[in-house]
Amino acid sequence: KIHLPGYDTEPALPRCSVFDYLFPDPTSESSSPYPCPDARDVAYIDGLTGREITRGEVADQAKRLAAGLRSLGLKRGDVGCVYGMNSLEWVNAAMGCQAAGIVVSPANYGYTPEEVLHQIVDSTAKVIFVQPALLPTLQKALSFPHAPKFPDNRIILLCRPPDKPDGRFKCLEEVWSDRYEPLRWRRGDETATAFLCYSSGTTGRAKGVETSHHNMTSQIQALNIAYTQLRKGQDVCLGILPFGHIYGLTVVLHQPLTVGVPVVVLPRFEEISVLSAIQRFKITWALVVPPVLIVLLHSKNVSKYDLSSIRGMQSGAAPLGKDLTEAFERRFPSMKITQGYGLTETSPVTHVMTASEGQSHRGQIGRLMPTFQARLVDAETGKDVGPGEAGELWFRGPSVMKGYWKNAEATSNAFAHGGWFKTGDVAVVDEHGYYSIVDRVKELIKYKGFQVPPAELEALLLTHPKIADAAVIGIHSHEQATELPRAYVVPLTPVSEHTEFADEVMRWVAEKVSNHKRLRGGVCLIKAVPKSPSGKILRKDLRAMAKKEQEDA
Ligand code: AMP
Repeated sequence: KIHLPGYDTEPALPRCSVFDYLFPDPTSESSSPYPCPDARDVAYIDGLTGREITRGEVADQAKRLAAGLRSLGLKRGDVGCVYGMNSLEWVNAAMGCQAAGIVVSPANYGYTPEEVLHQIVDSTAKVIFVQPALLPTLQKALSFPHAPKFPDNRIILLCRPPDKPDGRFKCLEEVWSDRYEPLRWRRGDETATAFLCYSSGTTGRAKGVETSHHNMTSQIQALNIAYTQLRKGQDVCLGILPFGHIYGLTVVLHQPLTVGVPVVVLPRFEEISVLSAIQRFKITWALVVPPVLIVLLHSKNVSKYDLSSIRGMQSGAAPLGKDLTEAFERRFPSMKITQGYGLTETSPVTHVMTASEGQSHRGQIGRLMPTFQARLVDAETGKDVGPGEAGELWFRGPSVMKGYWKNAEATSNAFAHGGWFKTGDVAVVDEHGYYSIVDRVKELIKYKGFQVPPAELEALLLTHPKIADAAVIGIHSHEQATELPRAYVVPLTPVSEHTEFADEVMRWVAEKVSNHKRLRGGVCLIKAVPKSPSGKILRKDLRAMAKKEQEDA
């Protein structure tokens, strides 16, 4: 039985493809059970140029791209990598793949050539959609000896013909074709993989998370019931969260489309373009990460813009404290801040609150979403804890991922007996069903909402010629409302100039990883990395050490 604390509607869960859910065919019984907005509704607005596209155009362009991709020989179940910042072209690439049954694997636009190649190889991508500005990075990635060979027609530029920089590759419109044939959808096909976002999970390197059609449509259906923020005809949503991260993919790219609310698409968060977009498009609702609230809170430019349209923001992907929420609401009294929580592996939102609840539950993540079941489990005893006690958060439900792509071991480690997915986050629930995240027992570090897998940085540090051992943890920065990756390194030979060596290591890492993985939390030299008898890094000890250093400073 689906557990619906506090909600009186049990959602009917769709059994169709994501594409059919977004663009229902009223005559087909496999289509979405959700009311279909009008084809003439504006779906997305380019926040820089003001160009609009309607729902009807989104669907039509997706079908054209799907037909074009088929004529290139791409088949249902193949993987397409989408590598770029948010844009209307990103939307076309993702929707076109979905219309063709091609799995969408979004790559972070900040990736280095090595990182993007890892995802291309691991995901077995057969086609790459790339923003022209990132083409040199992609070409560098594909020039490495172990890179797969891509014919020119399998690299498609995310731009329109007038903006095309290179004669060698086609852009989306040049691939479009009119011969679209809808996918034949049989019962059971909803378990096929629709998206492959990358997450490190509780340990190790980034892994492909298999989000099925059913995972995604169930999540949107649940959001449409619990998440009552968006009203057609009244709301306009800000689209700055990266579509390539599950939070932006689900809650910004997909969900507003199903309720007929337009999304103003901006390439990424940049203070002035966000402020002017709010004024120009009369944006009412924004989905953000905590560091965005910090920037706006301290912004000197706010008074130059008319922000009266915006009534609230929802923060997710990283912890948002009570203090920051209160400071923000004091500065912007007309805005209500709410918080949500989730993971790539849960497609993502498992907890959320409405704007009116937000006022009395600052610092909490809200109540459990419809369709999910949750447990809080004591790591030592394996028993469920009671209200007010801390336990690891476990989930079950139709939006919990199928597993990690081609990685049976990681998949089996992620689930406990009975199909419970173990998050690696520690939470407390109060007697009214409101949860708070109080700790994290997994390795993961989050910099401004982006994942930084410590294992990746540790493996890199061990290749440094002067480093014998290394461990990486996150330290909290109150000023920036984010964690910062910090390395503890053991030099191979004694180092006389600590600061100089630490700076050298920081610069060396910065040259090799994407911006969000830089060691902004510093490099500390230690004699030995604390380890358990089995050789596992004792991150708890390092965190305690960092906390003490911060308190002493
Ligand atoms: P991702 O898969 O990139 O979305 O990362 C998921 C992780 O982000 C979770 O397991 C948490 O550790 C963290 N996270 C997401 N939302 C919140 C939140 N509201 N409060 C605390 N941590 C969060």
